[in-house]
Parts: sequence; structure tokens; C-alpha cells
Amino acid sequence: MKLTVLGNCSPYPTKDAACSGYLLQADKQNILIDVGPGTLSNLQQIIPFYQLDAIIISHLHQDHCLDLLPMHYGMEKSIKYGKREEALAVYLPFDGGDELQFIQAKVGDEFHLQQIGQETELELGNLKVSFQRSNHPKECYAIKVDDGVKQFVYTADTGWDKSLLDFAFNIDLLLAEASLLEKDRQYAKAGHLTVKQAVQLGIEAQASKVLLTHFWPEYEQSEIAAEVPETEIEVELARILKKYSF
Ligand SMILES: [Zn+2]
Ligand SMILES: [Zn+2]
Repeated sequence: MKLTVLGNCSPYPTKDAACSGYLLQADKQNILIDVGPGTLSNLQQIIPFYQLDAIIISHLHQDHCLDLLPMHYGMEKSIKYGKREEALAVYLPFDGGDELQFIQAKVGDEFHLQQIGQETELELGNLKVSFQRSNHPKECYAIKVDDGVKQFVYTADTGWDKSLLDFAFNIDLLLAEASLLEKDRQYAKAGHLTVKQAVQLGIEAQASKVLLTHFWPEYEQSEIAAEVPETEIEVELARILKKYSF
């Protein structure tokens, strides 16, 4: 599998970095996981958006879903002008908030919106996708993709949660949110992990590699890197447009 980081910061994009968005490519599938502000532009550095096979949105906080709205203009035209035949499947929680109603009101038939939940299992090509409710104030799901050989888990937004250890056990790549430095640990109860907790999650789950993401723009990257604890597993800070193969 190949994962390209399209956006790694939250809750607002910076001049260098878009919000959450990741292109997962495996088994001839192009799957966009989260579509935060700025990711649509970065996606097109890799593939045309109309070549996507699916979009999976972890939750409807705006730093994870807003670029779906401008993408609908492009997708609509792609179908109209014959670049694409079918509507694009978009899997997302139907948590009933204002955001869902807004998305439903703004997009058209070019997107096929489908509800995800704890029990959802998707088959995209030969890829199996499953979900685990995360510890976050909004209905939010960690996402696991299994190609039969390798396994990938994205924590999405979450506070520390033991169920994620089981969900991510023994996987090849853990993409973990690392929103906070230790000095701001009190904000973790709002449903986020510190850098240390994110790495600890990978260590306890015995992941082969941890890729940290969802960085608060007010932090320096050097401050984040300095809080990565000593460990034998591989840990890296997600870089925009870098491709990770596993
Ligand atoms: Zn969130
Ligand atoms: Zn977020």
C-alpha cells in the first residue's frame, strides 16, 4: 500500500500545510481518507480527483470534510464531460449535525453519500475497510484498511482509548493524531492525543511504524519532534506530499 499525506495540520491550514487528507493507493484503488481544507489542491499533484474510487470521512469536523464542497463542482463537470461515468462513493458518519445537512444540501448526484458506523465493513476492490468509534466529542471513526497482507490504521481524532489498541494491534502503519504537546495535555480531554500518547499507542499496539499527524499550527515541528519518546519502533512526522510505502 502507498499513503500520500495531503494535509497534516489542524484546525486551520497554513501557508505550507493543508488540513487532514490522505491518499491511500492499493489494489488499483485510489481512496481519499478525509478531505480537509487544502487537500483537494494537493490531491491533484498526485492524481486527478475524478480518478478517485472512494472517499472516507472520519467525522464531520470541518478540518476533515470541507473540501468535499468545492470538489462537487469539479466532480459534477467530470461526469458531464465524460471524464468519469459514475457517482463517487463518499462514506461518512450520519451524525445528524448541521454539517451533514449542509453537505447534503450543497452536493448533488455526483456523490453517493453512504453512512458508516461501528459495524460497517466495506470491500473496495480487494481491500477490506473497517471502523472503530474513537474517543472524540463528535461521532468519529478510526479506519482500518487491510489488503490481505498489510494493514493500515488511521486513528482520526481521538483521545486515549484502549479499544484503539486492539483495533490497531500488530499493524504495519499507524497514522496517529498527535495534536498536543505535553504542556497542553489538559486539552486532551477534548478528544485528542499528545505526541507522547500517540507514540505510546503505537508501542502498545506493536505497530511496525507510527506516522504522526494533525499538528497544531502554533507549534514548531522541532517542538513536536522533541516530544517523540525513545522507542525501537519507527516514528516519523507526516510530511506534506510525502509518499509512505508499506
Ligand atoms: Zn475532530
Ligand atoms: Zn481534527
